[in-house]
Amino acid sequence: MRPAKAVIDLAALRHNYSLARRIHGGKALAVVKANAYGHGAVACATALAGVADGFAVACLEEAEALRAAGIESPILLLEGVFEAAELARVDELGLWMVVHQSEQLAWLEAFAAARPLTVWLKFNTGMNRAGLPLARLAELHAKLAAAPAVGSITVMTHFARADEPDCEETMAQFARLEAALAGIRVPLSVCNSAGILGWPSIRGDWARPGIMLYGADPMPGEGHGLRPVMQLESRVMAVRDLAAGDAVGYGARFVATAPMRVGLVAMGYADGYPRVVPDGTPLCVGGRRTRIVGRVSMDMLTVDLTGCDAGVGAPVELWGATIPVNEIAAAAGTIAYELLCNVKRVRFEYIHPA
Ligand SMILES: *Cc1c(COP(=O)(O)O)cnc(C)c1O
Repeated sequence: MRPAKAVIDLAALRHNYSLARRIHGGKALAVVKANAYGHGAVACATALAGVADGFAVACLEEAEALRAAGIESPILLLEGVFEAAELARVDELGLWMVVHQSEQLAWLEAFAAARPLTVWLKFNTGMNRAGLPLARLAELHAKLAAAPAVGSITVMTHFARADEPDCEETMAQFARLEAALAGIRVPLSVCNSAGILGWPSIRGDWARPGIMLYGADPMPGEGHGLRPVMQLESRVMAVRDLAAGDAVGYGARFVATAPMRVGLVAMGYADGYPRVVPDGTPLCVGGRRTRIVGRVSMDMLTVDLTGCDAGVGAPVELWGATIPVNEIAAAAGTIAYELLCNVKRVRFEYIHPA
């Protein structure tokens, strides 16, 4: 069997959720959109079901999968419904939904719900992506509060730059929201992971931690006590000796300057490992840190084994316990979110909490 696998530590996931909730101090929806950032949404939500206040997903289809797997906790649709016809399913499944634009509001006002719906009204405080105009907060809140289909309202916004500790925009976004609230008493949700970790003076009632649940710290420097959840692993499948001047792999990007041993590892960009990483990108072979040499191929990559006795079958960690996924993301010029979401084809193995 091809040895490439993603080992998912569900105890670490639970630890990170509890840490997020404790640091924030309020309730927390565990964000499990995009298949729980590539970790498996059903497995992750099931592991968190006993501890999480609820879950957040991107769309109805993702929520339906969780309900079908027996998840009975609140589930928030972060982008709400994409068409009016979805409201009936939202009602039926008891989902919570974001309303971030005015068509969604109109659909909701025209909808006869079997039970009053929980709505999270999302306002644009400066990111200019999703969200209703802040100037209409009081008006829209009053309008929605009067709509028969609506049971409870939470006001939310999303930060554009919370992962930048010295950036004034995060405080400015929060200040704009507070000013628009002008004394309206309504539960608030503003913090993603970076908000929770980096902005202790900004809180609200509900946090929405995503990336930190999976153990990747979005703030520079890390050190918040998060535990990595995914370990991407494989094994050495062949070993070769190179002479000085021998090149390795496509495009002969790496050329040996001295005799060396190179290991071939069963992991490639078809598994979601980023092709763009340069020579020197770290990984661990047989517990020892070494480096990638040569271009990553679709199914394989090559590593420097000079001076280590690892042979065929030696275990390889691409990221996880010793190599932070953030480090590989930096080498690839991207963020951990993208790498984690991209993991595919490999076997998924789940370590369940004791
Ligand atoms: C994805 C998402 C989150 C989670 O963000 P992280 O940076 O992963 O913590 C929170 N809120 C909204 C609206 C999101 O779309």
